[in-house]
Amino acid sequence: MSDFFQESLTEQESRLLQPFVTNLDRPVFGFRNLPEVVKGALFSRYSRSEKGLRRILLDEFIKAPEADFAGIVGSASGNQADQLVAIQKAEAFYDRVLIGYGDDSVAELGGAHLACEGVSNIAAKALEDSRLGISPLEKSTRYVPFNKKVNGRYLYYREPAIMVSSHAARYEASLDHLFDTYTALIDPLISWVQACTPKEESTSERAYASATRAKALDLLRGLLPMATLTNVGLFGNGRAFEYLLVKLAASPHPEVQELGLAMQQELDQMIPSFVKRAKTERGQAYVRYLADNGDRTAALTQKLTADLKTDASAMVQLVEYDPNAETKIVAAILYPQTNLGFDQLNAYAAELSAAAKLEIINTYIGDRAVRFHRPGRAFEETYYSFDLLADLGAYRDLHRHRVLSQERQRYTVQHGYAVPPELVAANLAAPYCQALDRAAETAELIGQDLPEAAQYVVPFAYRVRWRMKLNLREAYHFIELRSSRQGHSGYRAIAQAMYQQIQTVHPALVAKMHFVDLNDYALERLASEQRLDAKLQQMQPPLSS
Ligand SMILES: Cc1cc2nc3c(=O)[nH]c(=O)nc-3n(C[C@H](O)[C@H](O)[C@H](O)COP(=O)(O)OP(=O)(O)OC[C@H]3O[C@@H](n4cnc5c(N)ncnc54)[C@H](O)[C@@H]3O)c2cc1C
Repeated sequence: MSDFFQESLTEQESRLLQPFVTNLDRPVFGFRNLPEVVKGALFSRYSRSEKGLRRILLDEFIKAPEADFAGIVGSASGNQADQLVAIQKAEAFYDRVLIGYGDDSVAELGGAHLACEGVSNIAAKALEDSRLGISPLEKSTRYVPFNKKVNGRYLYYREPAIMVSSHAARYEASLDHLFDTYTALIDPLISWVQACTPKEESTSERAYASATRAKALDLLRGLLPMATLTNVGLFGNGRAFEYLLVKLAASPHPEVQELGLAMQQELDQMIPSFVKRAKTERGQAYVRYLADNGDRTAALTQKLTADLKTDASAMVQLVEYDPNAETKIVAAILYPQTNLGFDQLNAYAAELSAAAKLEIINTYIGDRAVRFHRPGRAFEETYYSFDLLADLGAYRDLHRHRVLSQERQRYTVQHGYAVPPELVAANLAAPYCQALDRAAETAELIGQDLPEAAQYVVPFAYRVRWRMKLNLREAYHFIELRSSRQGHSGYRAIAQAMYQQIQTVHPALVAKMHFVDLNDYALERLASEQRLDAKLQQMQPPLSS
C-alpha cells in the first residue's frame, strides 16, 4: 500500500484506542464498540481536519474531558438505562462537534436496525417505498403460511375507523372467510402439486417438501388481504430514516402515522441526533407540505378526470422509449475514453452505421458469464416507461426495486383478478373465487364511506395499476433477476413481457441479455432447493434444515 501519514501513538494511547479500532497502524481500519452517533461525529470530522480519525478519536473524544468519553462508552455497554444516558451524552457532544459545519449528509454516517412487527401490508409497503439508504426485509408469503391465529383471531389489521363503523362485522366476516379459505386449501393444494410433479429419486425429501409447499403458498397468496399483518426489518441510515418518518406522518392511514411515531420513539434511543428533525417544527412543516399537496392534487385530478373511463389495458405496456437510444448509448460508451464533449460525441455517433454502433455496444457489454456481470453506466442513458396492470402479489414483489421510479394507484378491486390455472386444474378455484368475490363486495361497500380504509380489504389476487420507469442498465438487472426460475410465476410473466417489448424496439440493446429466462416451470423453487441441499451437505458439521 502507498505511503500514508502514520499516527505516532504512545503506548498508553495505543492501549486507549485498541478497543475501538480494528487495527492501530494500517491505513484501512474500522471502528467498533462505539455508539453510532460517535462514529458519525468522527466521520464528519474528515472534511475539516488534516488529522487521521484515530488521532481525532484520541484528542477530541477519549482524552477531551468535556467529551466525557468514559461516560459515553463505559455506560454504552451497561444496562438499558446506562445505554440511554450514554447515547444522550454522545448526542450532546455530537451536536457540539457539528455546530457550524454539519450538513444534511452527516446524518448518513450512522445507521440503525429497526424491526417493525405486526404491521399491515399497507404499512409494510409504505415502509418499503423508501429508495436510497434503507434496506428492507419482509416475512415471505412463499416460505411462511399466514394462517396463524392468536386468541382465536387471524392476524390481520382491524382498521379502527372500520371497527367503529357499521361495517365492522362485515369486515371481519369477509377477512375471516379469506383466511379460512387460505387455510383450508393449503393441504389439498400441496397434495395436488405433489401428484402433478412426483419426486424424482435424485431429489431429497427436504428439497421436495420445501419446493412443493412454496408452490402451494405462492398459488394461495392471492387470498391474503392488504390487512394481513407481517414483519418488516429495516436497516437504514439516519437521513433516510428521518425522511421516512416524515413521509409516514403524511400518510392518510392512521396506522401508518402511528407506526411512524413508534419508529421515532425507538430511533430516538439509537440514533437520536440523526432523526430529531422529523419531530421539530421543520419536520412538521414538511409533513403538512406533503399531505396538503397530496390532498390538493387529488381534488384537482378528480375534478379534471372524473368523466374519463378506465380501459382494460394490457398487463404490460411499453408507453415510452427513446428512438435515439442507440446513438445516445454509443456516445455515452465513448465518452469516458475521450476528451471530447458529450454533444460532439452524440453528433459523431449519429453518423455511424448500424454495424459500427453494434460493434461498439457489443464490445462494451463484452462476454457476460453470469447475470451479475451487468453492463456499465452508459446503459443508464436511455429509459423505458411501462404501465403495468397486475395482481397485487406481483406488485408487492416488484415494488422492492429501489433504483427505478415506480408509482402506483390505490389498492382496489375494480380491475378484477385472475385465477391461477393450477387452482382450476386442482378443482379448487370455486372456494378461492367465492372468498375473493365476497371480499370485493365488502371493499366496495366500505369504500363508499371510508375509501382509504377500504384498501385494507383488497386481497393480493386483485390487480393494481402502477407505472415503472427504468433505465436499460436496471432493465438488465430487473428482467434477468425477475424472470429467473425461482421467481413467482406472476412477476416472471411481467419481466418476460417487458423483455419482449424492449426487444421489439431495441433488439441490439438487449441482444446480450442472455440470462432472461422465458421458460415456464412447474416447481419454481426446486432447483434452488437442490442447490441448498448441496450446500447443507458441504457444511461441517452438517446443518439439519
Ligand atoms: C426469488 C426472490 C425471493 C425474494 N424473497 C424475499 C423475501 O422473502 N423477503 C424479502 O423481504 N425480500 C425478498 N426478495 C426481494 C429482495 O430482497 C430485493 O428487495 C429485491 O429483489 C430488490 O432487488 P435488488 O436489491 O437486487 O435491486 P434494486 O433495489 O432494484 O437495486 C438494483 C441494484 O442496485 C444496488 N443497490 C440498490 N440499493 C442498494 C443499497 N441500499 N445498498 C447497496 N446496493 C444497492 C444493488 O446492486 C442492487 O442489486 C426476493 C427477491 C427474489 C428475486
